[in-house]
Amino acid sequence: MLRNYFDPALLPQIETYIEGLFAVEDDALRFAQSEAARAGMPAIQIRPTDGMLLHLLARAAGARRIVEIGTLAGYSGIWLARALPPDGRLYTLEANPLHAAVARRSFARAGLTDRVDVLEGPALDSLQRLDGGVRYDMVFIDADKDTYPAYLEWAVAHLRPGGVIAAHNALRNGGVVNPHNDGDYAMRRFNAMVARHPRLVSSVIAIGDGMLVAVLSSES
Ligand code: SAH
Ligand code: MG
Repeated sequence: MLRNYFDPALLPQIETYIEGLFAVEDDALRFAQSEAARAGMPAIQIRPTDGMLLHLLARAAGARRIVEIGTLAGYSGIWLARALPPDGRLYTLEANPLHAAVARRSFARAGLTDRVDVLEGPALDSLQRLDGGVRYDMVFIDADKDTYPAYLEWAVAHLRPGGVIAAHNALRNGGVVNPHNDGDYAMRRFNAMVARHPRLVSSVIAIGDGMLVAVLSSES
């Protein structure tokens, strides 16, 4: 049996401790949260510590072009877009027009309008319309779980070597180790697909609901 480093009951306090030091929300991030609540949207945003993780990954990759699949109210998008240089770009894909409208307000409030494109419509359609002639630096997947494998395929085909893939809900509330429904099994298959992919170096970081992280290596 694996030894615990600390009493699991301390986890909420530990997360609050890390948040208070490293992932402090400012007005714009809080605005994205409160606008989502006000519009009656589901509270399924990533957590501040996930947001900081995405921000760090984007910085470490020197990302200039990021694709996000699943915008919701723009919360994760703000963390990502803030990692970009002034001439960088976040393309964030959202099927629900209400969500897209709220997200545009969040990005405006954060002063990021010039760096963010909210692409409305089913993500697979928007991905087809994105410029296929350029390489992207990072793809964050956080939409319909059934389609994760197709999003992964797009990411592998369009990232530069060294580019980063992140995928949220990799643990499905624990369902990947104790599967109860189709979604749990689908996420298990997705995680295994990434783990065995010949061009991906990957792991799941067990913060929040699990953030799968992968780096693309060169061909051959
Ligand atoms: N990344 C966001 C949360 C995204 S929630 C954050 O952490 O702040 C998932 C979002 O994906 C929802 O807004 C939902 O409307 C959207 N979505 C679901 N299926 C989609 C699809 N096929 N194409 C585009 N967006 C989709
Ligand atoms: Mg999610």
